[in-house]
Amino acid sequence: MRRYDLHCHSTRSDGLLAPAAVVRRAAARGVDVLALTDHDELAGLAEAQDAARETSLTFVCGSELSVSWEDLTIHVVALRIDPEHAGLAAGLDAIRTGREARGQRIAAALEAAGIAGAWEGARRYVTSERLVSRTHFARFLVEAGHARDVKEVFKRYLAPGLPGHVAHAWATLTDAIGWIHAAGGDAVLAHPGRYKVSPEGLKRLLADFRDAGGDAIEVLSPSHTAAQVSQFASLARTYGLRASMGSDYHGPGESHLDLGDLPPLPAGLTPVWINW
Ligand code: AMP
Ligand code: MN
Ligand code: MN
Ligand code: MN
Repeated sequence: MRRYDLHCHSTRSDGLLAPAAVVRRAAARGVDVLALTDHDELAGLAEAQDAARETSLTFVCGSELSVSWEDLTIHVVALRIDPEHAGLAAGLDAIRTGREARGQRIAAALEAAGIAGAWEGARRYVTSERLVSRTHFARFLVEAGHARDVKEVFKRYLAPGLPGHVAHAWATLTDAIGWIHAAGGDAVLAHPGRYKVSPEGLKRLLADFRDAGGDAIEVLSPSHTAAQVSQFASLARTYGLRASMGSDYHGPGESHLDLGDLPPLPAGLTPVWINW
């Protein structure tokens, strides 16, 4: 059976390894089909694709889009997109522009909480022009001694309701799925178990996602407990969505799962790759 890993990050967003290094690591770990899905960015895909030619793995062009839905931020993974598609590129460019202003607001919020120099501090960890994320702030906050590790930073500062969190309007769900489809790709609701929604909210999210043309949901993700894997397998069938899987790998020492560290999809699901 082929091993799929359809969600991971490189230095083109908030990962720690360069795109080619991600591909080589995945190949060495026995991944057969890999998608690189940097946040709101396509810039690593050409390098990854070139590196994949030196290996036996099949490379899939992807991205992970930041989306605002109701009062939440959700992530939509784009798979098998055309990396040259102008409409998708323009949409992602607009999201990246928003990240810049949001980063300044995060720094101001941290300053108000008594932490100076966070903008410059986070910028030192940024490895892709105009792609500043909370992860970069988290690495700076660890360095500055405000938390032991990145996980603790999110618990104390960067999640909703905490001193370093700011509201932000990302892309709409309709726009994000529209760009992905225009670029020939499949739209996957990333790690649905991570969103802080009521049971009714989750039903609305899945219905809205499907009605907006969404194709699949991530069933296997390091964000999911065994119970959530069963829950989302069942919800995929209920909502007529295909199923995806990904390690969400960010780099050595920062991720719970390594590339390819996933079991096969639960039985009875239609994999997102069925028609690839
Ligand atoms: P952003 O897109 O700037 O909001 O940053 C989101 C990124 O922060 C995610 O893709 C993760 O890499 C990271 N992140 C979010 N929550 C946590 C957490 N609780 N622990 C560690 N990393 C997290
Ligand atoms: Mn990330
Ligand atoms: Mn995500
Ligand atoms: Mn991710």
